[in-house]
Amino acid sequence: MPQHAPSTTEPIGSIDPGTLHLRLHPDAVLRAKARPVGEVTDNVREVAQRMLQIMHEEEGIGLAAPQVGLPWRMFVCMVPADPKAGDLSEGVREDTAGNPMVCIDPVLTPGGPLASVEEGCLSLPDIRGQINRQVEVSMEATGLDGKRFTVNAAGLLARCIQHEVDHLDGVLIIDKFGQLDRLRTRSALRRLERKAR
Ligand code: ZN
Repeated sequence: MPQHAPSTTEPIGSIDPGTLHLRLHPDAVLRAKARPVGEVTDNVREVAQRMLQIMHEEEGIGLAAPQVGLPWRMFVCMVPADPKAGDLSEGVREDTAGNPMVCIDPVLTPGGPLASVEEGCLSLPDIRGQINRQVEVSMEATGLDGKRFTVNAAGLLARCIQHEVDHLDGVLIIDKFGQLDRLRTRSALRRLERKAR
């Protein structure tokens, strides 16, 4: 099992963004509970830029810091608009309006009913399954300017935010799969685990 993750005692502020790369299951860093970032330093901003670069290269819509080996409470996302999306209530967003979003130390308040939608994850290539999540979420987080902001999200953005915050708690989509998806993805998961040895 590859274990090149910096230890959780390594100070924020000493990370060389050039060394960061996508981590795949079963890398142990994906199972760590990430710690708060706190102050948004130049190094935090550099790490966020590198995370956005990796996310774009991998053609993902979201990427959490543990996925690049950092057990920090931070994620980036860029969620495209859904042309099929219905009318939204005032102040609710389903996408990031063409801009990348950096979210540091997020706090979530999910709402609305549960819905099951297929999800994938950059750290679990070729593995997809149905995940139950609440359809709305209100998030408070710190931006790159160091200020707290609030987003009221629905649709794909709400799903993406909840998926990324799961990463900060060491939770992966495979933990939330139902019996059917567990069976269906078993061999792909084993292949991935074998490759890491
Ligand atoms: Zn993921």
